[in-house]
Amino acid sequence: MSLKTMDQFDPYDKKILCRVDINVPLGPDGVPTDISRIQRVAPTLKELSQRGGRLILLAHLGRPDGHPNPDYSLRGLCSVLEDVLRHPVTFIPDLLSPEAEEAVNDLQAGDVALGENIRFYPGEESNDPSFVEALARLGEVYVNEAFSASHRAHASIVGIAQKRPAFAGRLMAQELEALESGLTHPEHPLLAIVGGAKVSTKLALLSHLIEKVDQLMVGGGMANTFLLARGFSIGSSLCEPSMVGAAQEILKKAQERGVLILLPTDVMVRDQRGVPRVRPLTEVEDGDNILDVGPHTRQEIPRILEGCRTVTWNGPLGLFEEAPFHEGTMALARAVAERTQADLLVSVAGGGDTVAALHQAGCDEDLTYVSTAGGAFLEWLEGQTLPGLVPLYES
Ligand code: ADP
Ligand code: MG
Repeated sequence: MSLKTMDQFDPYDKKILCRVDINVPLGPDGVPTDISRIQRVAPTLKELSQRGGRLILLAHLGRPDGHPNPDYSLRGLCSVLEDVLRHPVTFIPDLLSPEAEEAVNDLQAGDVALGENIRFYPGEESNDPSFVEALARLGEVYVNEAFSASHRAHASIVGIAQKRPAFAGRLMAQELEALESGLTHPEHPLLAIVGGAKVSTKLALLSHLIEKVDQLMVGGGMANTFLLARGFSIGSSLCEPSMVGAAQEILKKAQERGVLILLPTDVMVRDQRGVPRVRPLTEVEDGDNILDVGPHTRQEIPRILEGCRTVTWNGPLGLFEEAPFHEGTMALARAVAERTQADLLVSVAGGGDTVAALHQAGCDEDLTYVSTAGGAFLEWLEGQTLPGLVPLYES
């Protein structure tokens, strides 16, 4: 199955429905506080415009739940898009109005229009056939440049893609290539690092990864449940006793497949008086709360990475928001960044908190790929079929 890309159609004079992710955070005055999502899609939009496409951008902002709501209007982003694209952008206040069709027909080769928040319409999230039909009428070709929304079977993601020739945008193609190099077709040995608070939220992820990887490092609060499954005392640390069975299952699968499981060899705890302390694994006390990997584990990280060609990472190793429990995650971020920069490692990372941790470590530019796609990234790592991707492949 091969991905249909923007090289496979001629945009010239075509009405192109392009689904983008420009879901930027807005300040109290309605002005975006971070326009990096707009900057990221800009090269694709410029390319389509320069190749003579007539662009109709479809996008959402926030969660207006199927009702028009001025707080979530995309109107204010027109001027931002105009600045970034250096091209006028026509706003379409109602995608279902006769004026929308007129505005689209008035677009000349290279022109750009932005439709109002697609989630103002109840038919978007329900993928309603008559809504899909109305949207599809506005364009001749469809481009999906919103990987982060592609785990949703919505009208602007799936419905239109089934009605019009559908292609992956440049960013979409890049994201998929990166994910494939991180998991589907990696250079081995492949190490997956999974951290975060709970096993329960990452169980599907762990079960899928264990089928693909050579080594699996488990960190964060979820490591506690694994330590418990291995028979260690974890004091009063966060843990899910109901998940011990699931953890044992994963340990067993790892053994059958010859996958090396890496758990912390020492830990940082907050003791019962609130004091941060280093503990060997065998000396965790009743009142201790494990909040990070320990210094010995930290020191082992570079050596572990030396044995790997690819690293795929989701989830911090500890309570990185709070010093001194950030150190494990920071050490990992720096070590992964360093080996990637030295061309010794392919590294892919994602997840809301993981991206924040990489930023905190000053390493967000230094990995092979950092996905900001949140839920879509996690579902992809779980091995799920993302409904929005299906129409983008040659069948
Ligand atoms: P991501 O958003 O990257 O997918 P998660 O949301 O799964 O990551 O996990 C991140 C959260 O896990 C962070 O808030 C972090 O503080 C928390 N966490 C990590 N280790 C621990 C721990 N040992 N105890 C409590 N919370 C932890
Ligand atoms: Mg999170």
